Amino acid sequence: MTLPAFNAYLNGRYAPLDTLTISPMDRGFLFGDGVYEMIPVYNRRAFRLDEHLDRLDANLAAIGLANPHSRKEWHKIIAELVDEEVFEDQQIYLQVTRGPAWPRNHAFPAQATPSVFLFADELPAPAREQVENGVSAITIPDLRWQRCNIKAISLLANVLAKQAAVEAGVAEAILIRDGGLSEGAASNIFIVKDGILRAPPPSTQMLTGITYDVVIELAQANGIAVQLEAVSETELRAADEVWLTSSSKEVLAIVELDGQAIGTGRPGPLFARMFQYYQDFKTGVMRAGKDFA
Ligand code: PMP
Repeated sequence: MTLPAFNAYLNGRYAPLDTLTISPMDRGFLFGDGVYEMIPVYNRRAFRLDEHLDRLDANLAAIGLANPHSRKEWHKIIAELVDEEVFEDQQIYLQVTRGPAWPRNHAFPAQATPSVFLFADELPAPAREQVENGVSAITIPDLRWQRCNIKAISLLANVLAKQAAVEAGVAEAILIRDGGLSEGAASNIFIVKDGILRAPPPSTQMLTGITYDVVIELAQANGIAVQLEAVSETELRAADEVWLTSSSKEVLAIVELDGQAIGTGRPGPLFARMFQYYQDFKTGVMRAGKDFA
């Protein structure tokens, strides 16, 4: 396999990832002061790129940072990376921080140039074993701040939650706040009860995933009733099915929560349907370079 000449971009420069360096005074490094996106690419076509860039716009506005690039410039940078990378299916990681500034001071610097960093990597399909048998999860208190709708690079609470999942030997940690479901450490969570697909509505308590939107659209297009209302911890535990969704994991069934079986303890019938809808959507829409069916 020929190696790409570059697989990353930093502040105007395309280069191999391991040759790029940032200032230790970068506010992303010092304060976690920045936002990010992960964009899946199928057959070299970025899926819902403009939705990801819209979310980036909203996140930059939410943290008071001017977008350093026009939409056209973002498209060009991403296209250069996708074209150069060897993999057909890729993930493009994109982050913008408030840039290097000193002296170190929490408040915004009077002058700073944002740091723009992207890299491309392979997007592996979710493991067959996880798709067929489902995965286990734990619940954990949601100790994060009140603006979880911002896709901020300051992810310490999510890191600790995911590590707790790893140490418990499970795939995901489901975050619970005030007796209700927020989301996973790195995913959105759906439940199925009596044939109805339920999930919390978009709010400041969770990140509205691009995959969350896709799953809701696919359910509605295929006659599955969808209810976007708060889901209590009790309802989560008593669900017939629980799913997690994200751009990299797609849709996976959670079959065990805190050591207790969810429903039958096997991926449920609605999951089987949604998994198929998602695969068909991937083939017919994402791989064809379309955003919607
Ligand atoms: N919530 C959190 C906290 C996440 O980190 C992610 C993605 N990694 C998601 C939800 C899902 O978002 P998307 O479907 O856009 O990948």
